[in-house]
Amino acid sequence: MSLRETSFLCNLFMSLFITSLNSGSNGNCYYVGNNTEAILIDAGISCSEIEKRMKRLMLDIHKVKAVFVSHEHTDHISGLQVLAKKYKLPVYITHATHRFSRLKLEKSLVSDFTSHQSIVIGDISVTAFPKLHDAADPYSFVVSCNQINVGVFTDIGTPCENLVHHFKQCHAAFLEANYDDEMLENGRYPYFLKNRIRGEKGHLSNKQALELFTTHRPSFMTHLFLSHLSKNNNCPKLVQQLFDEQACGVKMIIASRNEETPVYQIPTSLNIVPAYNPHVSQLAFAFA
Ligand SMILES: [Zn+2]
Ligand SMILES: [Zn+2]
Repeated sequence: MSLRETSFLCNLFMSLFITSLNSGSNGNCYYVGNNTEAILIDAGISCSEIEKRMKRLMLDIHKVKAVFVSHEHTDHISGLQVLAKKYKLPVYITHATHRFSRLKLEKSLVSDFTSHQSIVIGDISVTAFPKLHDAADPYSFVVSCNQINVGVFTDIGTPCENLVHHFKQCHAAFLEANYDDEMLENGRYPYFLKNRIRGEKGHLSNKQALELFTTHRPSFMTHLFLSHLSKNNNCPKLVQQLFDEQACGVKMIIASRNEETPVYQIPTSLNIVPAYNPHVSQLAFAFA
């Protein structure tokens, strides 16, 4: 085998493969996997849509070994009960989220999780951390494998220190860009709803997401999925243009409300990347 072939295979086995199966208030489901196993973050579209979309992407659903649930809003759990039952999939969900979700899950499949503590699924590890959102017990996740970190950061009212700390360690991220300030302000939503969306427990605006990216983007970040775009208060073309202008070589992908994105390969970084640290340092808090 040539050196080139060896490095190709090595790259393939060391990479993570990621896609958004759907993203938005009509349903969220994010796939992160390596060559042998995968996990889903949320299952907010039907089981049959998950199957159909994964098949189109030539992803094997039997590789999926667990589903992690960010919070109980319908757009994150609507397909979960059927999916978990059909494939006997372990579901990682906190007690509070489970209670508020009213999901009827098989007890033997349910596990709780604690923030900042990694859960190991084969070679993949998943770490949750709390986020600001109007749900019972909402979490963001970082999925890691072979020193590659992928963040799933949607449904966030305020970019808190936790988010900044984890974003800075990601090679790729699904980052919420929910609304354009002007479109929300001038749109037809009632005033209370506008305030809920832009409140500190609502959603991230394009501006907030862009500021997080331009200020805290790590040099090794390669892909950013702009996620959970509002149907009425945002425009995919606008978001694409806004982020492309500041991309600095990062591939910007709009995670669609209607279909799956292609699968993107996130290779192990050639640069020396510090080991993933799930904890925000006390020093960072002290000076924040
Ligand atoms: Zn949502
Ligand atoms: Zn939500």
